[in-house]
Amino acid sequence: MRSCYRPFKKRRSNVLELEAVSYRYPGSDREALSNVSLKFTPKSSTAIVGPNGAGKSTLVRLMNGLLRPSSGRVLLCGVDTAKKSVAELARRVGVVFQNPNHQIFAGSVREEVAFALKNFGFPEDEVGCRVSSALERLGLSRYADSSPFMLSSGEKKRLTIASVIVYEPDILVFDEPTVGQDYRNKAIIGGIVSEFVSSGKCVVSMTHDIDFALNYFERVVVLSEGMVRADLGVSEFGLDGSFMHGSRLVPTEAMFLKELMRIVEFKGVYEPGALAEHIARRICG
Ligand code: ADP
Repeated sequence: MRSCYRPFKKRRSNVLELEAVSYRYPGSDREALSNVSLKFTPKSSTAIVGPNGAGKSTLVRLMNGLLRPSSGRVLLCGVDTAKKSVAELARRVGVVFQNPNHQIFAGSVREEVAFALKNFGFPEDEVGCRVSSALERLGLSRYADSSPFMLSSGEKKRLTIASVIVYEPDILVFDEPTVGQDYRNKAIIGGIVSEFVSSGKCVVSMTHDIDFALNYFERVVVLSEGMVRADLGVSEFGLDGSFMHGSRLVPTEAMFLKELMRIVEFKGVYEPGALAEHIARRICG
């Protein structure tokens, strides 16, 4: 992968910051994350992309205090989260985990979405109204009285999204939100990202889905083997497949086309099969 580390700059105080964070799982002989420094501001959206094993889910668990760094610090509005409990962090940092089966537990879809609201002391009439609106937003109203365990995996994922957006945390962290979602539901989730950002929140999403990242986020961080390889504005990332070299991510059509034009321009016309192979090798590694 092309080495490019140009921290994305934005002039606003940081709401969440990872300061030289490393993490090694107990018993493991290598770090899942090595010296990761990232800053997130309010009213911003960041997609963190990377292949399996890159460290994305580990990053999520560090952001909400489920894991504590082996070294380095995670700061929430400048305060070291080591001083805060997971419960305290949960109100500010809402996390949608990768596997919804690890998150859902209630007897009904409605209770699942109401849980955090009740826990955080929202008034009862507001709970009902917020729950209905979150369920409608995620296309789950008709399942309100069903068991969450009866839903399909894509619906379960949307249920966990509803359970978190319903209390409007300052920082919304998604782990692979588009897995199991069709185009329409991806657009709904993308709309939620845009709406949160417009209302001043910070959204961070781990994703394999490059199109989702390009369509709904303003900044892209490429993570691989536990390290930040690139940190750029989405327009810079969107056309330049070289940032993905060796990452095993699927390039977008725009990246493919740009690479095609570059080759035709500089090296003359190739036989189509050889050209496609050459491009795939350059972008996918
Ligand atoms: P990603 O979410 O990008 O797929 P992960 O954060 O799940 O990556 O994993 C990063 C690295 O940490 C991988 O090498 C993975 O095998 C390792 N890892 C993840 N969870 C554990 C665990 N509970 N115990 C030991 N190693 C783990």
